[in-house]
This record gives sequence, structure tokens and C-alpha cells, in this order.
Amino acid sequence: LLQLYQPLNFFGVVYREIKQALIDVESMVTLLSVDREVADRPGAPPLAITGGELRFDGVEFGYDPRRPILKGVSFTVPAGRTVAIVGPSGAGKSTIGRLLFRFYDVSGGGILIDGQDIRAVTQQSLRGAIGIVPQDTVLFNDTVYYNIAYGRPGASPAEVEQAARLAHIHNFIMALPDGYETTVGERGLKLSGGEKQRVAIARTILKNPAILLFDEATSALDTHTEREIQANLREVSRGRTTLVIAHRLSTVIDADEILVMEAGRVIERGRHMELLSRGGAYAALWARQQESSQGPEPVPEVL
Ligand code: ADP
Ligand code: MG
Repeated sequence: LLQLYQPLNFFGVVYREIKQALIDVESMVTLLSVDREVADRPGAPPLAITGGELRFDGVEFGYDPRRPILKGVSFTVPAGRTVAIVGPSGAGKSTIGRLLFRFYDVSGGGILIDGQDIRAVTQQSLRGAIGIVPQDTVLFNDTVYYNIAYGRPGASPAEVEQAARLAHIHNFIMALPDGYETTVGERGLKLSGGEKQRVAIARTILKNPAILLFDEATSALDTHTEREIQANLREVSRGRTTLVIAHRLSTVIDADEILVMEAGRVIERGRHMELLSRGGAYAALWARQQESSQGPEPVPEVL
């Protein structure tokens, strides 16, 4: 997925496959056009990852300079920790992820990884250091082997298998009639949502990024799938710096820090219990989600 910004014809070929995997296709199309304007500085060195600390320092940004979207956002995700961002739709949560990938440049402040401004390093090294765990994965119409190996071109079969083991999908694959050579995707074997995500996780494990970005889908999931995905996320994020754009409370409860965003600003921050006892915006969001999740209706996008 991260390779998509490169050749546009490649984008055309896999458009259908990746379409649903994207959090927001429209913005991806925008990303593709904008991306060509964000260029490496001459002689830019590659990003040197030491621990994987991520820092947003007074970040300001607007897609249109006349309409600011992020109005001074600061936070730090210490190496290996997890920060969750919650808030109403339109608050600017996904924009934070797009800026992290440098699909756009900030207009004020800076984004630093291990102390290096992301504008000062090569885009290839930046994007190589960040993995996305999509919640709604759409696989390539190819073998399950190909779908995992895509995470790191040139990986050996032993490495692909090891990644699959870590993602708890190896035994499942071995039980398929053609094992790793089984064709999956729209024209092949249909995997469940949780299985597809495990394949995507194996791909991410193979890529071995220092930083993970997880932008949850807003749609309601059944409880079983949600639990499975939750467990998958916990596993892959262990020891990696993780930024979760969260729509579900189950994801944020474990976070080392929760940022509550509203209209481009962080209005509250803290851990789950702290924020609950504060009785502010987070507590209100929580109360509303509790209410709605008890009814028969799917959980709406309240977080
Ligand atoms: P969230 O993820 O919190 O719902 P976003 O970060 O996606 O919010 O969007 C924040 C604001 O930026 C919204 O008002 C949205 O309309 C606007 N926005 C998002 N993407 C674009 C874009 N590509 N061009 C212009 N405005 C955009
Ligand atoms: Mg969003």
C-alpha cells in the first residue's frame, strides 16, 4: 500500500484491490496528486531509526491555507509506546496520519522521528519505517504467499513463514488445500475479516516497521471480529511505537496516552481512567458510546 505513491499506472492496476483497504479513497487520490509536490531535499539522508520515538511539535496544517485544520498539535509517542487519538468526525485525526507519511508538509511546527524532522530525510526511508495495519484489508488476487511476501520484496520463504507464524495464520494456511500457494482475494478463497487482517499483519511483521499507524474503520464490527482484531493489534504493536486513530473504546483503554481532539486541537489528554474521572469531553464520549452500544443498532461514529 505504501508503495502506491510511486507509479500511477500501478495504482490503476491495483486500484480495485486497494480501494477498500484505504481509510479514505478520495483523500488517497488527493495524496497521489499532492505527493509529487513533496520532494526530497537534495542530498537528504535516510531516516536513522534509533528507538522510534515520534513527536508532533506544534503542528499546524490546512489542505487549503485559508482553512486551518490542525491548529498547533503537540504530542510524543515514546519509543515502543501506544498513543490513541479520539474525537468527533472532522476533528483532524486522519490528517495526523497523512502528515506522518508526509503526504503533505506541515505549515507550522514539525514532525520528528528520533529527533529528525521528517522533511529532512528521504521519503522512501520515512515510509519504510512506518507500517499501516488496515482494519478492512483487501487482498491481492494472488497466492497467500505473495500477499505476505509483498511486505518485503526479496524476503526468503523461511522469513515469510516466520511472519505468518507470528501473525497466527501459518497453521490456517497449512490446512488449506494448496497451502501457501492458495489463491485468495476476490477471485480466490474468501477469507474472513479476521483472517484477512492476519495476512495483512504477517505482511507488516515482515516489513518490520519501527512505527505503526492504525486508523480504525468507523463501521460497526461484530463482537467476535472486533475481539480478534483487537488481539491482533496488541500483538503486532508490542515493542513498536504505535499511533491509533480510534473509533472504539476497546482500543483506547490500553493506550499509554489518549488524546481527545476537537476542531484541530488536543482538548484533553491522559489515560483512560484519568480522563473518565475528569468528567470532561472524553467522559462524555465514553458515556455516549456505552449508551449506543447497548442498543441493537450498530455503534455509530461517536469516537
Ligand atoms: P477525522 O479523521 O478526525 O474525521 P480528517 O483529518 O479526515 O478528520 O479531516 C479533518 C478536516 O479536514 C475535515 O474538515 C475534512 O473535511 C478536511 N479534509 C480532509 N481531507 C481533505 C482534503 N483532501 N482536502 C480538503 N479538506 C480535507
Ligand atoms: Mg478519520
